[in-house]
Amino acid sequence: MSVILPDQQQSADLPRGPRTAIERVRLVNCGQCWQRPGRPCTVADPPGDYLARWQRAERRGLVSRPELAAAVATLDVIASHVIVRDRAL
Ligand SMILES: [Zn+2]
Repeated sequence: MSVILPDQQQSADLPRGPRTAIERVRLVNCGQCWQRPGRPCTVADPPGDYLARWQRAERRGLVSRPELAAAVATLDVIASHVIVRDRAL
């Protein structure tokens, strides 16, 4: 007989799909360069995405405010056309 513990039940209910903030940002297209979902705005080393895309993902509830704040914290200049590099996070 198997018993489902409360912790196991909770983890089974977690949404599936992208887990990291970067993966969730890439679920939206980019209002800055119109990159399609699933691809980074730039594939130059290191890859990254425009801050505008992070802001769009935050408005849609895909990333949290603290995750957006962490992305902004990596930038020297805060503007929608600035790239948030994967490596910085
Ligand atoms: Zn873009």
